[in-house]
Amino acid sequence: MEATQKSGGNGAGAAVIEKRSPVTGEVLGTFPIRTAAEVDAAVARAREAFPTWRDTSLDDRLRMLSRIKDVVQTHGEEYARRISDDTGKPLVDSLVTELMAIPLFLDHYRKTAKKTLSRRKVSTPILFPGKASYIEHFPLGVVGVISPWNFPFQLSMVPVLSALIAGNTVVLKPSEVTPITGEIVDEIFRRIGLPRGVVEVVQGDGSTGAALTRADVDKLFFTGSVATGRKVMAEAAKRPIPVELELGGKDAMIVCADANLARAAKAAAWGGLVNCGQMCTSVERLFVVDAIHDEFVALLEAEVRAMRVGGPDEHADMGPLTFRGQVTTVERHVAGAVDDGAKVLAGGTRLDRPGQFFAPTLLTGVTPSMEIYREETFGPVLPVIRVKDEEEAIRLANDHQYGLNGCVFTKDVERGLELASRLECGQVMVNDLVSIVGNPALPFGGVKNSGFGRYHGPEGLLAFTHQKAIMVDRGWSDIEPLWFPYKGKYDAMAQVFHGLLGGNLPKALLAMTKLRSLTKS
Ligand code: NAD
Repeated sequence: MEATQKSGGNGAGAAVIEKRSPVTGEVLGTFPIRTAAEVDAAVARAREAFPTWRDTSLDDRLRMLSRIKDVVQTHGEEYARRISDDTGKPLVDSLVTELMAIPLFLDHYRKTAKKTLSRRKVSTPILFPGKASYIEHFPLGVVGVISPWNFPFQLSMVPVLSALIAGNTVVLKPSEVTPITGEIVDEIFRRIGLPRGVVEVVQGDGSTGAALTRADVDKLFFTGSVATGRKVMAEAAKRPIPVELELGGKDAMIVCADANLARAAKAAAWGGLVNCGQMCTSVERLFVVDAIHDEFVALLEAEVRAMRVGGPDEHADMGPLTFRGQVTTVERHVAGAVDDGAKVLAGGTRLDRPGQFFAPTLLTGVTPSMEIYREETFGPVLPVIRVKDEEEAIRLANDHQYGLNGCVFTKDVERGLELASRLECGQVMVNDLVSIVGNPALPFGGVKNSGFGRYHGPEGLLAFTHQKAIMVDRGWSDIEPLWFPYKGKYDAMAQVFHGLLGGNLPKALLAMTKLRSLTKS
């Protein structure tokens, strides 16, 4: 395994993660597996730091966090190298999909956070004359963030930054599969000199994550598999504290009869195989309508066959699988599909070289009964499903346990939008795919087993706050129309009731005036 737990090397008998390169298999280092006591201590430091961070103005919080941009710019290429060593992904991917996302998010929130988090006025019904109503937000406290290995930098940094901007302190548990990236995240927050306890990074495995779910945190933000998401939610339910679950996907791409097929084929190759298909938003079910199926598949086959596979030094399009266990899942899914009648047009096997490489794979003849159709593969496989028409594609796309992303390719943008609206998922793109996650203005999250809750956009900050409703009266009058005594008020109140329910506002207002005069007398 590229990351195994073993005893020793971390003090007397302490367990460590032994990190291996997904490209060569060589040991790259060992990392601590923090114990429950260490997690509790980290949470206690975050708890202690919370009041001061909460009371630091939003402008100052944003100013401090924006120093990350300088750090990422200065050390970006070194970080990209280390993230690629950790994950095996091409340097281009580390630079663009991991590091570049962070300045984009920071810039977006520098511009929008004030509006999102400020108190705002809302309407007040005429039943409450002379009052003003507001909504404001306040931070939750200490947030526990648990992140996965597929985009270990971005999927740690974005929730952590969102929680911090909203005024919380954070304890992050990065994935044991990518501890080098966990170390980078820790380094970045140290480099910008945040006060002690504002961000605590606790490296470790599932036991460390489980300890964080049981620790004294006020919210858990989890990105990972459905199986672990269930455990996280079960722990949270005991207290209860809120959870946000960003889970798996089996995203549908629909290629309509009138699509630009050259674009759709290039899009499918990238959307299914970028990051070696280890993406919650990968194209994992490719619905192609019968009329253009063969032409499209021929174009896609050429794209897949042209891909270069290799490690970060080989300037490849696609690297190895990051998590060794994933190789077995991909092999099982492909073999099961072939046994059930699917055809391999490209790839289909591991590469004959050291490391965790699997060939970019194109399968046709995939059907809903196959495991590769029902379960998340999380590998470099494009399963093509031939459908009669777009209606069948929509029906099948929606008839699934997951609902994270989707995309529709058609030259008719109006029709594309209509189909997009009918897809049961959190995000959809028309004539493009995946990159929607990079727009910090748009909320991101899933439906069904893909989880719930949203981050990014205004929701991404509000997710880390409590809402508070406030109503204000100037307090000049000694008494309110609705207070005791009720004697003599019934008729006027009945007129208010019928005026409001009957939509007769003048009648209701008149009755309110009467009620007020009765109150004064
Ligand atoms: P995973 O569930 O195995 O692990 C995720 C994290 O949970 C790791 O840090 C792990 O150490 C920790 N963990 C393990 N057991 C735990 C427990 N009992 N309590 C608390 N934490 C525990 O997931 P993974 O394999 O790292 O990630 C891949 C999965 O993540 C895929 O299903 C993928 O689709 C999903 N994912 C979803 C999104 C999204 O935004 N929806 C993004 C990326 C990945």
